Amino acid sequence: MSTIKHDWTKEEILATYNKPMMELLYEAATVHREFHNPNQVQVSTLLSIKTGGCPEDCGYCPQAARYHTDIEGNDLMTVSHVKAQALRAKASGSSRVCMGAAWRNVKDGAEFDQVLEMVRTINKLDMEVCCTLGMITENQAKRLAEAGLYAYNHNLDTSEDYYKDVISTRAFQDRLDTIDNVRKTNVTVCSGGIIGMGEKVEDRAGMLVALASLSPQPESVPINALVAVEGTPMEEIEPISIWEMIRMVATTRIVMPQTQVRLSAGRTEMSREGQAMCFFAGANSIFAGDKLLTTPNPDVNEDMEMFKLLGLQPMKPFVKKAQPETVEASESKHVPLGEKPRWSRPGHTIERNEEAKTKASIK
Ligand code: SF4
Repeated sequence: MSTIKHDWTKEEILATYNKPMMELLYEAATVHREFHNPNQVQVSTLLSIKTGGCPEDCGYCPQAARYHTDIEGNDLMTVSHVKAQALRAKASGSSRVCMGAAWRNVKDGAEFDQVLEMVRTINKLDMEVCCTLGMITENQAKRLAEAGLYAYNHNLDTSEDYYKDVISTRAFQDRLDTIDNVRKTNVTVCSGGIIGMGEKVEDRAGMLVALASLSPQPESVPINALVAVEGTPMEEIEPISIWEMIRMVATTRIVMPQTQVRLSAGRTEMSREGQAMCFFAGANSIFAGDKLLTTPNPDVNEDMEMFKLLGLQPMKPFVKKAQPETVEASESKHVPLGEKPRWSRPGHTIERNEEAKTKASIK
């Protein structure tokens, strides 16, 4: 049985990533079978509960207020709307609902209370609940845990070296600090990244070093391929080839044997054959639903057809970890602290998309 190794070096990971494809696939598929049922794939539905208007400057993201994209922003969804969407997701085979809000960080107050109520509501539907709300404090993580949160997503995105070329409004360490806050609760960690943002293969390896060195390693690692959106600084980047995605998935599987490796953004550009190779290489989770926050994703019926073709089954909820209990708001032990943490702002150095600004102003 392979053991979990936390001291991977960049060189070791690069040597794995660059193996002849057939050897890489064989090794990854072997590790996959040791730790997982290769015919089961966990299906998550990603719901944008608050879209657009984000103060951050992530170079890939159409929701950043400073870029000029066609995103239609919306205020925080109501709890009943979220419940209806979760029920729909459950009926179509999803075991997890991941709620994303375009915030820099969570602020205590009515909106966070509303998110906590969403968490309680979905947990009571016997679905795994995940949130991705930006940076959170330890107390906020505890309040989410008490509401019944199963997972918190906070991607490292890329290597520490390349991070400042992608985002200038926060630092890599801020991400690690939030993950650390989540780890002080029983909420599982979902953290991965995006490939195809102009980074080097060394940066992909660097990101995997950072993720693998976390103890415990994240329970889920989403691997996204950049979806270049017009109006963002990355609008002109060409899509990566499927072979890079397969190599990244296989390497992630070998480096983090126990994790759920999630095939995330960019699936609309992949053939079924390409996705099948990713499943063989150790991917065992997908996002379902026709949108991933704001970018396109395959239709859920098409995904279920693909599952049938490949003999894959959607995983039931709470297979990897027991369902958390929900504590009602009236019985909560954690009061809002109204904290104002000093998340860093290393400097706004990313080149702005002046062309997109001009385009927007002459509309
Ligand atoms: S990725 Fe998240 S934090 Fe970054 S701009 Fe988009 S919504 Fe904001």
